[in-house]
Amino acid sequence: MPELPEVETIKESLKETISFKKIKEVEVFCAKLIKFPEVLQFVKDIKNKKIKSLERRGKYLIIKLTFNTNLVVHLGMTGQLIYSDLPLQMDKHTHLLFHFEDNTVLQYRDVRKFGCLWLVKDGCLRFVSGLAQLGPEPLSQEFSMEYFNTILNKKSIIKYLLLSQNNLAGLGNIYVDEILFRAGISPERTAADLSLKEREKLYHTIRSVLEEAIRARGTSVVNYIDSDGKKGSFQDFLRVYRRTGELCFVCSTPIKRIVLAGRGTYFCPKCQPMTSNSCRGKTVRPRDNTESLNQ
Ligand SMILES: [Zn+2]
Repeated sequence: MPELPEVETIKESLKETISFKKIKEVEVFCAKLIKFPEVLQFVKDIKNKKIKSLERRGKYLIIKLTFNTNLVVHLGMTGQLIYSDLPLQMDKHTHLLFHFEDNTVLQYRDVRKFGCLWLVKDGCLRFVSGLAQLGPEPLSQEFSMEYFNTILNKKSIIKYLLLSQNNLAGLGNIYVDEILFRAGISPERTAADLSLKEREKLYHTIRSVLEEAIRARGTSVVNYIDSDGKKGSFQDFLRVYRRTGELCFVCSTPIKRIVLAGRGTYFCPKCQPMTSNSCRGKTVRPRDNTESLNQ
């Protein structure tokens, strides 16, 4: 699934290609992808609008159009936005074509068809399902250590907590597994039990992994490509995701796979123990303030 780094990469590459272009017409071959308004209205309303700017919020791409209109796109599991000149290369997975006045085209392709598109006026973005409930952007000032501590105080399993878009916007299965490995934290730990040191490590790791993945232009493990049709390269730097049975790069223990919240979860049982590293071998009382054990 395209996560924050992939959507950020698509946004940046589309900025180069579609900014200030006028939409001549839109062809829709799969009506269920259009969530608002109904398809005929969508096609009518988007006509002759120009692309003003592009923004990203979590895993949502927000294309700002003239006349205070926004085209919001969520790529679901396998959605792709591909920009090209005519003649067009399309197949049975091409579900929408945005034709621009200069005869270039933006194609929406989606094998699983879990993607969603909305066309809404400014001030109505709250009607886009899930958008208004998003937590802060992990690379913004709003995501402070103080804020992170308030969400970590929940009794939730750490993997669930990081996947919840209401806590933090943009993380998905791949990056949560990679972040937890690099922070040395088992995905099954209870968030509230993390020590102060672990919380700080996790906070900085979230930022550094996302920054690194954006620099690598995303991760192409399933079918992710950017709007120029290019693959990302962060898959070359994955340390646990989809490495079941292969040896950990740090300690040579085989990587394990379990299922958490219905998602394949990859981790190193040695580098990511169920207790705080500094607590191992000591008696850890559940819910204890483990900060003192870190001294
Ligand atoms: Zn290891």
